Amino acid sequence: MKLFISLLPILCLNTAWAKNPIQQELTIRPGEVRWIELELPGEDVKLFCGDQRVKLQREGKQVQAFIIQSYFSDLNPFTCTFKQGDQVLADLFFKVENREYPAEKLKVEPKTIKLSPVNQKRADAEQLVLNKLYSLSLDRMQFKTAFQAPMSSAVTSIYGTKRVYNKQKKGQHLGIDYRAAVGDNVPAANAGKVVFSGDLFYTGGTVIIDHGLDIFTVYGHLSKTLIEAGRFVKRGELIGLSGNTGRTSGPHLHWGVKVQGQYIDGDVMISETKKAFKE
Ligand SMILES: [Zn+2]
Repeated sequence: MKLFISLLPILCLNTAWAKNPIQQELTIRPGEVRWIELELPGEDVKLFCGDQRVKLQREGKQVQAFIIQSYFSDLNPFTCTFKQGDQVLADLFFKVENREYPAEKLKVEPKTIKLSPVNQKRADAEQLVLNKLYSLSLDRMQFKTAFQAPMSSAVTSIYGTKRVYNKQKKGQHLGIDYRAAVGDNVPAANAGKVVFSGDLFYTGGTVIIDHGLDIFTVYGHLSKTLIEAGRFVKRGELIGLSGNTGRTSGPHLHWGVKVQGQYIDGDVMISETKKAFKE
């Protein structure tokens, strides 16, 4: 009995967080990302959204993470949980709000719609290489500033646009297209490590930057890449020149932002990181 009484305060202390986890209600829309920062104790805090483990970063007393809702997911609502062992430290309840995306029709070279066996083989092989790159993101955020749009020119196709190619093939445009001539400067949207620089079937001349925490940016249709894989770049550093390579209907820059394996809206990544870094 004596032993039981002396253990009691320790038990209470350990279960304080479990009894009173932080609870927050948030909203998100398909194809968007949210920046999350919470003060949480514990060294080994893990974050789960559904059954997916999401990378996070500790900064002193704060834990920081990005939470996404895939363009294609119809999970609504969903919960993300911060845990230490089996203890729940915080529950974030996300309500998914509706977002309507526009539609457009495009004419492109027929050979990029119905691929020849050789091109199909090439595109498939490239996809395997890319999947591998996307599975090896750095564990720490490589940036301490907000993302910035890689070009200040007009946006010619927004993220999420539903597309019909040559009245045949349907798809979604999961990046942002900026008006550009062949040879305009393309800077990095934020600091990170270049993990790919070369030619791909769909996006032509392409640079891919790993920003850490499963966040990547992709710059497509470049006429020239100006940086090698393996190099670290700063925000705004020149990485290539815009162009008309790969599957395009004219010269422009295609900018993709991939987070946790899903392309999300780069404009929302810009606004969320502006909040995060108070820019
Ligand atoms: Zn595009």
